[in-house]
Amino acid sequence: MINEKIKKLVFDVLLNKKLTVDDFEYILTNYNEDDFEFIKSSASKIAIAIFGKRIYFRGIIEFSNICKNDCLYCGIRRSNSNCERYRLTKDEILECCEDGYNFGYRTFVLQSGEDGYFSDEVMVDVVKTIRDKYNECAITLSIGERSKESYKKLFDAGANRFLLRHEAANKELYEKIHPSFQKYENRFRCLNDLKEIGYQVGAGMMIGVPYQTNRNIAEDLYFIQEFKPHMVGIGPFIPHKDTPYKEEKAGSIELSLLCLSLVRLMLPNVLLPSTTALGSLEGNGRQEGVLHGCNVVMPNLSPMSVRKKYLLYDNKAGVDLDAKASIDTLRKQMEEIGYEVVVNRGDYKEITKLKGD
Ligand code: SAM
Repeated sequence: MINEKIKKLVFDVLLNKKLTVDDFEYILTNYNEDDFEFIKSSASKIAIAIFGKRIYFRGIIEFSNICKNDCLYCGIRRSNSNCERYRLTKDEILECCEDGYNFGYRTFVLQSGEDGYFSDEVMVDVVKTIRDKYNECAITLSIGERSKESYKKLFDAGANRFLLRHEAANKELYEKIHPSFQKYENRFRCLNDLKEIGYQVGAGMMIGVPYQTNRNIAEDLYFIQEFKPHMVGIGPFIPHKDTPYKEEKAGSIELSLLCLSLVRLMLPNVLLPSTTALGSLEGNGRQEGVLHGCNVVMPNLSPMSVRKKYLLYDNKAGVDLDAKASIDTLRKQMEEIGYEVVVNRGDYKEITKLKGD
C-alpha cells in the first residue's frame, strides 16, 4: 500500500515545490515496495515525456590514473602503491576520440585523477585540438578541482561540460572520507565557479559510502535540489581491495535507484547517467537505471592496454570490452528494454519538451 505522506511529497516535487531535508529523509527511511514502484514509474514517465525512449551515449576516455588526492574510497588514490599508473599521450587521447567519433559518439568525456602533468597549458592544447577537429561534438571534462582561472581557460578552449561530484553535502561526512588537505569548501567553490563560467555542470555522490546515513543522503538530495546541476552522477559505493575501505559493504542498488528517480522528479530535464558502478554490482544495473529515469550511458573509449588500470573499485564492468564491443553491448541492453541509442550531443535544455528534436 502506498504511504500517503510519500505520495503527497512526490506530488509536491512534481508541482515544483521544494522538499526539506526532513522530507527527503522521511522518504528514504519509510518507503515501501509500492512507494518504490510509484516513484520509479513517475520518474520513468517524466524521462520519457521529455526525452522519449532515447538514450544519449557519451564516450569516456580515462586518460590518466595518476592522482595527487587520497580519497579514502578510491582505488586510484595516491596512497595505493599497488595501482599501476599510466598517462595517455595527446595522440593516444586523440586516437580514442577518432575511434569514438567513427562509432557515432558526439560527446567525449575526458576523465582522470588529479594529475599535475596536465597543467593548463597541456590541457588547453588537448581540448583545443579536439574542439578544432570535432566541431560538432561536446567535450566534457572530469579532472577534479582547479582554480576558476583554469576552468575558464579550458572553457574558452572549447570544453562545454564538467563533471565534479560534490561527494557529500554534509561537511562532517566529507571530512571523514577525505584526507584533511582536501577541503569541503573548495569542492563547492569549484562547483559554483564552473556554473558561473557557463559550463553544464554535473554533481553527485555515491550511495552507501562508509559512515553515510539516510540523513546524509537527504542532505545530498537537498543540495541537488538547490544547486540544480545540469547533470547528476549517482551510483553505489563499491569497495576496492587496496583502500582503507576494503572490508566495507557495497552500497545498495535499490537506494541508488530510488535516489536517481527522485532526482529525475526534482529536475525533469537533468542529464542522468546510469552509472558504470550500477552495472558493476548487478548485470542489469544499467538497464534498471534507465527504467528508473536515467537517460545517459557512458561506454568506455579508453585503450584496452589501460582499461584494467583505471579501477576505482573492484569488479568494474566492461574492462574486457573494446570501444566497439562496449557500445554494442550497451546498445543491445538498451534495445532489450525498448530504448534506442541516439547519436546526438544531447545538451541540457531548459525547455521541457525535447521529444523529437
Ligand atoms: N578526479 C576527478 C574527480 O575528483 O572528480 C574524476 C575522477 S574520480 C575517480 C570519479 C568519481 O569516481 C568520484 O567522483 C567518485 O564519486 C567515484 N568513485 C571513486 N571511488 C569509488 C568507489 N569505490 N565506488 C564507487 N564510485 C567511486
